[in-house]
Amino acid sequence: MSEILDPFKISQKQLSDACKLANYDSEIYTALSEPERFVEIKLTMKMDDGSLKTFKGFRSQYNSARGPMKGGIRWHPEESASLVKALSAWMTWKTACVDIPLGGAKGGIICNPKEMSNREIETLARSYIRQLADIIGPTIDVPAPDVYTNPQIMAWMMDEYEKIVRHHAPSVITGKPLPLGGSAGRSIATAKGGVFTVREAAKDIGLDLNGATAVVQGYGNAGSWAAKLLKDDYNCKIIAVSDSRGGIYDRDGIDPHVAAEFKEKTRTVVGLKGTKEISNEELLELECDILVPAALENVITRKNANNINTKIIAELANGPTTPDADQTLFEKGVLIIPDFLCNAGGVTVSYFEMVQGYYRYFWTEKEVFEALDRVMTRAYRSTIEQSQKFDTHNRMGAYMISLERVLTAMRLRGWI
Ligand code: GLU
Repeated sequence: MSEILDPFKISQKQLSDACKLANYDSEIYTALSEPERFVEIKLTMKMDDGSLKTFKGFRSQYNSARGPMKGGIRWHPEESASLVKALSAWMTWKTACVDIPLGGAKGGIICNPKEMSNREIETLARSYIRQLADIIGPTIDVPAPDVYTNPQIMAWMMDEYEKIVRHHAPSVITGKPLPLGGSAGRSIATAKGGVFTVREAAKDIGLDLNGATAVVQGYGNAGSWAAKLLKDDYNCKIIAVSDSRGGIYDRDGIDPHVAAEFKEKTRTVVGLKGTKEISNEELLELECDILVPAALENVITRKNANNINTKIIAELANGPTTPDADQTLFEKGVLIIPDFLCNAGGVTVSYFEMVQGYYRYFWTEKEVFEALDRVMTRAYRSTIEQSQKFDTHNRMGAYMISLERVLTAMRLRGWI
C-alpha cells in the first residue's frame, strides 16, 4: 500500500489511531474529524505591472470548545485546502496540549510573497481580512503569522480589521510588531519553547547538551533561532543547516549567527565559506544527537525513517513526520518531541500577547520566557507520562492529553 501523504488525511489517521487507543466510540472520531467551519475565498487585485490577479485563500476553524480559535496564516505557493484543514486540527491539539484557553484554526493564501512587492503584499493582506472580518475577532478567531508571513503583515491585518469595526482591537491578531502591542519574545518564541523541550528530553536520555551535535532543516524564523539558541544557551555544536535551496555541513560546527547573516544577504545558507554543500535529503540522515525539522511537512517518511541517525527529533515544523515513519522511529528508540508540543511556544506567547493586549500592560522578555518555560516543561512532562501509561510514542501520548481536554470542554458545553 502506498503511504498516505495528504496532510488532512494524515491528521485524520492520527486522530483515528488516538481515538482507538483511548477507547473512544466512532461517534467521537466523527465529531472531531472535520473543522467546525471551513471557508474558501477569492482575492482579486491589481498587481504593480497593471495586470489583474486572483488568489485563493482559506480559513479553517477547527474547534472552539476551549476558547477563541487560534492559528496562523500561511502564504505559500503549495498552500492547499487539505493542508489548512490539517494545520487547523493540529492547532486544536496544540493549544490543548499546552493547556492555554484557546481552540484551533488556520488560514492561508496560495501565493508566493517572495515574488511580490510590499504594496502588493499589503493589498493582499488587507483584502484577506476584509473577506473574513465577520468570522474573526478577539473572542472568535485570532490569526497570527506562519510560513512566509511576518509582524508587518500582522500590523496591516490588524489595522484593516480595526477600520472595519471602528475601534481598537489589538487582540484580533498576534505576532504584531512591538510598538503595536506585540509581545516581547514573540519572534523567538517557537524556537525558545522547542529548545526548552529539547533540554527536558536530553535530561531523560542522559544526553549532555554541551557539545551535543545538532542538525537543523529549514532556516526561516523557527529554524535559525533554534540553531542560535541551541548554540548560545546550551553550547550544542550545529553541524548542518539547510533551507529550500539546499544544505551546508561542517563537522567542526557552523556558527548559526554567521549563517543567518549570510542568508540575510544572499537569501540562502548555501555557499557559506568553509562548509560543504549537501542536499536536504542527505542532511536529514546525518548522524547527530538532535535533529530539528523546522521547515515543511512530510520530510521524514517511510522512505527515509530507517536511515534517520539521531537520538532526539525536535519537530519545530508542523507535520514533518508521517504516521508510518512515527512507528519506525518508535521501534528504533528515537525520542520524538512531536510538533504540536515542540512548536507550541509560538502560540503560547501569542496567548500571552492577547492577555497583555487585554489589559494594556506589557511584560519583560524575561517574564515571558519564564512563563513559557513553565508551560512547555509541564506539557512535555505530561506527554511523556501519557506515552508511558499507554505504551506508545510521544505523538500519541500528546494526543491522549489533548483529546481528553477538548472532549471534556465539549461535554461540559453539552455538545456531545
Ligand atoms: N503559526 C504558529 C503555529 O503553527 C503560531 C500560531 C499562533 O500564534 O496563533 O503554531
